[in-house]
Amino acid sequence: MQDEFKTLKKFDAGKGREGFLYSLPALEEQGIGKISRLPVSIRIVLESVLRNCDAKKVRRKDVETLANWTAKSPANAEIPFVVARIVLQDFTGVPLIVDLAAMRSAVARLGRDPKIIEPLVPVDLVVDHSVQVDFFRSPHALELNLDMEFKRNRERYQFLKWGQQAFKTFQLIPPGIGIVHQVNLEYLAKGVLSQTSEVRGQRSEIFFPDTLVGTDSHTTMINGLGVVGWGVGGIEAEAGMLGQPVYFLTPEVVGVHMIGQLREGVTATDLVLHITQLLRAQKVVGKFVEFYGEGAASLPVPDRATIGNMSPEYGATMGFFPIDQESVDYLRATGRSEEQCLAFENYFRAQRMFGMPLRGEIDYSVDIDLDLAEVQPSVAGPKRPQDRINLPELGRTFRELLEKPVRDGGYGKQNVDLREKHLVELNGSAPRNGAMFSTDNKEDQGISPGDERNKVEMITNRPTPDAAKEIEAESRDVFTRGRSHIGHGSVLIAAITSCTNTSNPSVMIAAGLLAKKAVERGLRVDPAVKTSLAPGSRVVSDYLQKTGLQSYLDQLGFNLVGYGCTTCIGNSGPLHPNIEKAIHEYDLVAASVLSGNRNFEARVHQHIKANFLMSPPLVVAFALAGRVHIDLSRDPLARDKDGEETFLRDLWPTLSEIRDTMQSALAPETFRKLYRDFADQNPKWNDIPSSTGDIYQWDEKSDYIHEPPFFQDFSMEPGRIGEIRGARALGIFGDSVTTDHISPAGAIKETSPAGKYLMSRGIQPRDFNSYGSRRGNDLVMTRGTFANVRIKNLMLPETEGGVTKYFGPSRTGGSKNGEGKQMSIFDAAMKYAETSTPLVILAGHEYGSGSSRDWAAKGTRLLGVKAVIAASFERIHRSNLVGMGALPLQFADGTTAQSLELDGLEIFSVTGLSNDIKPGQNVTLEIERKDRQKRSVPVKLRIDTPIEIDYYRHGGILPFVLRQLLSK
Ligand code: SF4
Repeated sequence: MQDEFKTLKKFDAGKGREGFLYSLPALEEQGIGKISRLPVSIRIVLESVLRNCDAKKVRRKDVETLANWTAKSPANAEIPFVVARIVLQDFTGVPLIVDLAAMRSAVARLGRDPKIIEPLVPVDLVVDHSVQVDFFRSPHALELNLDMEFKRNRERYQFLKWGQQAFKTFQLIPPGIGIVHQVNLEYLAKGVLSQTSEVRGQRSEIFFPDTLVGTDSHTTMINGLGVVGWGVGGIEAEAGMLGQPVYFLTPEVVGVHMIGQLREGVTATDLVLHITQLLRAQKVVGKFVEFYGEGAASLPVPDRATIGNMSPEYGATMGFFPIDQESVDYLRATGRSEEQCLAFENYFRAQRMFGMPLRGEIDYSVDIDLDLAEVQPSVAGPKRPQDRINLPELGRTFRELLEKPVRDGGYGKQNVDLREKHLVELNGSAPRNGAMFSTDNKEDQGISPGDERNKVEMITNRPTPDAAKEIEAESRDVFTRGRSHIGHGSVLIAAITSCTNTSNPSVMIAAGLLAKKAVERGLRVDPAVKTSLAPGSRVVSDYLQKTGLQSYLDQLGFNLVGYGCTTCIGNSGPLHPNIEKAIHEYDLVAASVLSGNRNFEARVHQHIKANFLMSPPLVVAFALAGRVHIDLSRDPLARDKDGEETFLRDLWPTLSEIRDTMQSALAPETFRKLYRDFADQNPKWNDIPSSTGDIYQWDEKSDYIHEPPFFQDFSMEPGRIGEIRGARALGIFGDSVTTDHISPAGAIKETSPAGKYLMSRGIQPRDFNSYGSRRGNDLVMTRGTFANVRIKNLMLPETEGGVTKYFGPSRTGGSKNGEGKQMSIFDAAMKYAETSTPLVILAGHEYGSGSSRDWAAKGTRLLGVKAVIAASFERIHRSNLVGMGALPLQFADGTTAQSLELDGLEIFSVTGLSNDIKPGQNVTLEIERKDRQKRSVPVKLRIDTPIEIDYYRHGGILPFVLRQLLSK
């Protein structure tokens, strides 16, 4: 083993195991930095840099730089971080395995051994993002939704099974087991890992901290267990798999000193919403956050994990909790072996990193105090997770937002009478077709709400006729029959969803206890509310069953619908068609309540405009109340069976009730039993046939898996960096364009380029499935780029959706093309490609925020976009653009497309680009207006690190890695 700093030391790993570790105390003794005062998160990264220091990929200088990290002025140096493992979910994981398969094909075409393409660190993929809530309020919902999932995703699952046998270091956890971050927390994470290597002539076990990156922004949930990790783009994860370090700039570390304890009636969800608001205001984007102090020590790991989970929402790279006895106890309680627990504890003790730090022990860049006793019950929304609202104020806030102008973040309604309700009949044909209604916006398709065609047109995502027959009997109960009255503020979706909260037994049991009290009082949920329960692991069902609480949740409609992301990722499934119709007809601002972490418009459901994040027990409470314009601290939420008013306080469980119930229900053996032999526990997975071999046999008939063009005409010579001349704007966007705007995950519209393409392949709209499920097919995904129905291209300010103006090739000039021709962004991009016209995107602040989504960058690149010029970028999306060879450029402070009065008629050039560019330097954006007037503004190259210059020069990270592997 390499040992550049002579820090390899023996330690007692427990149970008679002797191991080696790269000792940080030994490094400090050499006078290389005050390591014991570094934040624990920085020390864990430092260990990786030290251990992997080989004077090539990781240099001595990197170790010295990080060891000398200075709290108040971090060096802004590029750190090569070699992670111990990678986690993937299926939406982002499939394209990654597709890329690996494409690399193998390219290597084979070059006459080399395709097996040189193999993950070099363990990779775990959890299939969790594909299940949709088609069936609900039924004891058979789980089985029926799983059936639908397998029918919809068969081709993707066949491909994944090929990957499972082709790559040795790749473990796949099939559908129906759990959600990636909860599975990671409860099973995959080990706390400390080891490998056997030669040390001083002897085979020895070397221990090192469990670290990872994941292709999902909420990978940070594992920070709650003291594991360093965060979300990266699929492109970076791919490079990580292939032995490349993940590069990041030495961050500031914000220390959040916690004191006190949560009060009665306050949940971990309330705490994380409080922290999200607090840290958003502190601008922690790109920083590590480390929680410490007695308050942090008092939090159990599931609460810490809930807080870690929402780091993307507060903007931090990580939300980390140091390792202490609580971390070890959690591993033990979740069925990890005694050897593992001892090795974890002994390793961190030997590294002098064990125990929750107290005030003054560590130097942080920024110090923030948080008294847990000040946290109040709250919700967040209706559009952003950082917009926290104290529970008593929700009703008033919603009323205000209803009438507030749209430009101020409101809904722009006038003279609203919230007592006005509209009758909705939930009988008729709806139940029979329950599983089959699309969530597409019919008005967008030119179908008026009252149009009879709705009845037919809305039947999409329909199973095959045979499957339909099979499920028809069950689907009779899909939508609860009855009548309802809905209006503004009506709760139409109530979902206990998301690993954020379902990993936390305290809030799940609180939801069950609240349901029990409600049922005992004879309360019921209105049939218009689509209720669902989708935990992130089967452990949750085990304890809800053992405690008898599931039956109460069932009685309120919170039947188990699946083990997966469901509503959290927008797979909330259709609403009753008559409800959708009423929403359109009366232009209702309806609400969802969910225990997820994201709520931007159209994320949860295309028809629901107001989305409120909250704890699982509050989800149940609002389902019972049926509306969000209510003060639950004062107003009754319903009348009980005796006609008495029932208040939230009558139903809310006490902390001791929750604690007592939890203690009776959680056992390590349950975790061990449920986390083994996954395939055996899922016969549907075993039944899927799959091809074998080292090289994937691409099937031109498949519309899910297609060989991407990234390695076509691949040569060993990278190109040169050159200027961009004569570019056209493909889109001009405002602030906060999310990756979901750029590359939507949800429904594919029939009239969209992707929809038309699928139709041309003989695929009917009912079988379109979602964009997320077709990420293995570049032909669909490129057409889906910028196709979100809610994206607003300011070149067409009156229109929503993925459209632009096509002005013809730039050589014909701006003025000759009048107002341009309106067409889809994809069609315009293809027309520009015919004349080799380069394209640019102009955008406002926080471009690419939201979930990490590599297709947002891949699609941008495949549309022919050479540069994205924005006021600011979200961290992962910026790096993904570079990873795909597209150039991120940033306007100087105060400059925007609007301040420059750009309308898309201009011709753009980016000058000052050459092979000698430096990270972060300024280059020039030249703008030629339609009247031929010219203007130049400086823009900053958002290539942030030297290695990114290499990636950009090679046309992206994948060609860079492939050339490296082939040159060996
Ligand atoms: S449940 Fe939500 S936060 Fe968790 S992995 Fe799924 S989509 Fe991400």
